[in-house]
Amino acid sequence: MNVYTSPSGREFNKNEFLEYFEKKVRKTIRTNDLLGKKERILVAVSGGKDSTTTLYLLDKITKSNKGISVEALFIDVGIGDYSKVNKVNIVKFCKEYDIKLHLTSFREEFGYNLCYIKDLAKEKKLKWKSCTICGILKRYILNKKAKELKATKLATGHNLDDEAQAIIMNMFKNTMPVMARLGPISGTQKQKGFVPRIKPLYLSSEEEVRIYSKLQNFPVKYEHCPCRATAYRKEVADLLDTFEKNHKQTKYSIVRSLIEILPDLKKKYKGKVNYCSKCGEPSAGDTCNTCNMFKILK
Ligand code: AMP
Ligand code: ZN
Repeated sequence: MNVYTSPSGREFNKNEFLEYFEKKVRKTIRTNDLLGKKERILVAVSGGKDSTTTLYLLDKITKSNKGISVEALFIDVGIGDYSKVNKVNIVKFCKEYDIKLHLTSFREEFGYNLCYIKDLAKEKKLKWKSCTICGILKRYILNKKAKELKATKLATGHNLDDEAQAIIMNMFKNTMPVMARLGPISGTQKQKGFVPRIKPLYLSSEEEVRIYSKLQNFPVKYEHCPCRATAYRKEVADLLDTFEKNHKQTKYSIVRSLIEILPDLKKKYKGKVNYCSKCGEPSAGDTCNTCNMFKILK
């Protein structure tokens, strides 16, 4: 029975698809130099299909390599049952595959969960979106924890759809310095205090990851986060889905175009590196977004 038809019309049965998917991820890692000979990889896991697949494959691919270790980090952001179920799922997964899992939470790191921080912002009549707050705080913890755990690479579950959306959003908003930080390895330069982020699913579409995760019976929820995505990202995602339906490989072409211009973009926006004067984390300005956020809220 066929489980997948590729954009070029090739049909795959279950085993062919699993092989095709894994081969593509291996190629993404190889051709983009995502891994060196010696690495301590920390995979940022949300309990969803993308990061669970990333963790599973990085662990599988590097199993026989003594110089590379793979561990996982889950942040409980505190979105009610959604966070609880994701935590249960990733704990179960890591136990099954014997992968070391580190757990932390917004409450542990900042003293408050996401809903409380959202309420504080509301009280101050700030129109901050949950996704924006959550994204800033997650990035902060991921980098800080990765350094504490002496990780050499931080892996995320970003897939082809996520990247294509980010590229179009940056074009539509003309935010090229942000665009320069995209790509299969994040960051514009090797920066002290910043653990490089890698995206092994960079060329794997959302649909392919969903099929792979379902065929592997990973214990994950397929619903989106209840606080999900800004209306703007959703609009772009819908636009790209329509284009992809009518013009195959649109998302892939968008990502390939970025890869072509990325070296020049990185050169152009290789700005001065700052460190937050309060917490010491890398920062665009004098203080980082996380410290700025809590300063306004307190
Ligand atoms: P998002 O920003 O929610 O689209 O997630 C992007 C990536 O960040 C995911 O693919 C994960 O690798 C990582 N991530 C998201 N949520 C969490 C979480 N709660 N804990 C750890 N990593 C996460
Ligand atoms: Zn700071």
